[in-house]
Amino acid sequence: MKIERVETFVAEQKLDKPFYFSQFEFQARQVCLVKVTAEDGTYGWGEGYGPATVLRAGIDYLAPLALGEDPLQVEAVWHKMHRRSLDYARRGVLVGAMSAIDIALWDLRGKLLHQPVSTLLGGRRRENVRVYATGLYFTDTDDLVCRLVDEARCYVSQGFGAIKMKVGLGVERDLRHVRAVRQAIGADTQLMIDANHAYSLNEALRLARRAEEFDISFFEEPISPEDYDGYRELRNRTAIPIAGGECEYLLEGFRHLLAGRCVDIAQPDICGAGGLSEVKRIAALARAYHVNIIPHSWGTGIAFAAGLHLVSALDVLPGRLRMPEPLLEMDRSENPLRDRLTKPLFQVVDGMAAVPSAPGLGVDVDMDALSEFVASD
Ligand SMILES: [Mg+2]
Repeated sequence: MKIERVETFVAEQKLDKPFYFSQFEFQARQVCLVKVTAEDGTYGWGEGYGPATVLRAGIDYLAPLALGEDPLQVEAVWHKMHRRSLDYARRGVLVGAMSAIDIALWDLRGKLLHQPVSTLLGGRRRENVRVYATGLYFTDTDDLVCRLVDEARCYVSQGFGAIKMKVGLGVERDLRHVRAVRQAIGADTQLMIDANHAYSLNEALRLARRAEEFDISFFEEPISPEDYDGYRELRNRTAIPIAGGECEYLLEGFRHLLAGRCVDIAQPDICGAGGLSEVKRIAALARAYHVNIIPHSWGTGIAFAAGLHLVSALDVLPGRLRMPEPLLEMDRSENPLRDRLTKPLFQVVDGMAAVPSAPGLGVDVDMDALSEFVASD
């Protein structure tokens, strides 16, 4: 069996209500999907994390390396792509392109072997994964605090037991938002904050210390992802667990974070950091440093399904009789692509999402919906 075809699709949809976070504004959602087809017609889907048109160029560059290869030899193809890209891209969007092809190959391999990806990753520790709601972005409104409170209450009513909110608008303003959201959701719902590296070490430290009273489960990307020393210092000076890694790439990138004792929680994005093949290795490395993984996930059902399978196959540290459940990010901000491109849609029941049991990733793309969203260029 050989890989016969690699196709890319860039889909885009303008948003009804643009929103922003500490770095930039979203007017639209965009995604680059890849479909890898074997010579018997079996196909797998993958998705990259990053600017969609750049990802498409990257996938076009790497695709010849996969064509003609055996789709069951996923990590062999991965190493071929990695060796070809290493001189130009030890981090960044070309790694995202490689990730997309890798995810599609895991999906394809699962279908060819009639096994879900989680089984191929080493075995399902759990059939349902605890998910946290990512939302609470900023919008230009007269009463942002009220809007955030309403949105947070909505996630609680939907059964989420953990919610992540954005910070990064300035320490005092952030604290007003965090205080209001914590009061609205009560003590029983986990609350996390994410600055998307908006702060200096000094600002992050001030925010962290004053946010400690709001029982924050983790503070994500407080400072620049390049500032490994700053991460370590912040982690040593606040009681809030520090999370990071959505801007980190490949095993070697995570080695910096982990060996530097920079984070309590590592957050590789499967669609960006090197695909399922590499994030499996990153999880193994993190385990050696006694750090748990909570994958970053911000895409369509393909990205989310990849996350479910990975987390299903993860061990949580430390082991004990009543194990805490690992978490996976579930983006709830407006994204028509996520809601319409893939089937089936993932349901959240009591804060949990079921790991698909069908062969491969267990999601398929609705080609009618895709043609509606594909950007003309
Ligand atoms: Mg984040």
